Amino acid sequence: MRSSSDGTFSKGELLPFGPIQLNPSSAVLNYGQGLFEGLKAYRKEDGSILLFRPEENALRMIAGAERICMPAPTVEQFLDAVKQTVLANKRWIPPAGKGSLYIRPLLVGSGPVLSLVPASEYIFLIYVAPVGNYFKEGLAPINLIVEEGYHRATPGGTGGIKTIGNYASVLKAQKIAKEKGYSDVLYLDSVHKKYLEEVSSCNVFVVKGNVISTPATKGTILPGITRKSIIDVATSKGYQVEERLVSVEELLEADEVFCTGTAVVVSPVGSITYLGKRMEYGNNGVGVVSQELYSSLTSLQMGLVPDNMGWTMQLQ
Ligand code: PMP
Repeated sequence: MRSSSDGTFSKGELLPFGPIQLNPSSAVLNYGQGLFEGLKAYRKEDGSILLFRPEENALRMIAGAERICMPAPTVEQFLDAVKQTVLANKRWIPPAGKGSLYIRPLLVGSGPVLSLVPASEYIFLIYVAPVGNYFKEGLAPINLIVEEGYHRATPGGTGGIKTIGNYASVLKAQKIAKEKGYSDVLYLDSVHKKYLEEVSSCNVFVVKGNVISTPATKGTILPGITRKSIIDVATSKGYQVEERLVSVEELLEADEVFCTGTAVVVSPVGSITYLGKRMEYGNNGVGVVSQELYSSLTSLQMGLVPDNMGWTMQLQ
């Protein structure tokens, strides 16, 4: 789908997966004017296909586009494009319980620019790929490290939107962490260097008794759709959920820590290493709260229980 000069998007078309042509002086290649989204389609036992809260992805893309001066497809155009792409690729959706189809919408400034200005033309496209578990450990606990000296976002920056450049900035910290044997990096805020922010591609929650705390979204962390869903699921199960500043010191006292995201779903954290000290959670297993929330969320996403939250969209 391409934008017209008035910033509206014309009707798109379905094309085979393959390279696309981009102007060498396009805004996305030169200045990173681009956004992406990530969502999943699940196949139910009866063969029908479910999308999980796709309108939330559309709204997040629209909010991100505003921040980096791009026009965006409307919610209706976004949903229609997602549905058409998934249906055209339904043979790739794994059988029920065996994975999902990852859907990647992209919105990029394709128009040529030499000076630093927004593009005058944009491309919105979607591609898909079948996926299994994101972390090779599956639901087994992941091990995180706080890489001091690397921050994912700063106040006033673009940490709160899904712009492509945010991900280039985490590659090195993630590489260092992986070389040391960790699954990923837990970032602290860049001002006080003591409040939890998020992991490279997921949000983080800390459990202490009946209280589940997660960093508030104040522009430096991505407002995750899984995060938002887990807050509602946990609240409905009687947990007290707090969105606030969560200090790294609270990790010492925590019963459980887990991460949330479209790709990772709910991933229990087995250990966090900070300033050379390793804090462990869940006794080498999956914590009770992490397991409960994982099961509740995935049952909803896969259509194993009635969707009384109204979060799934059935495609056929
Ligand atoms: N934080 C970051 C930096 C991410 O890339 C993601 C993945 N989109 C998330 C959090 C989780 O967001 P969601 O639950 O919407 O996938």
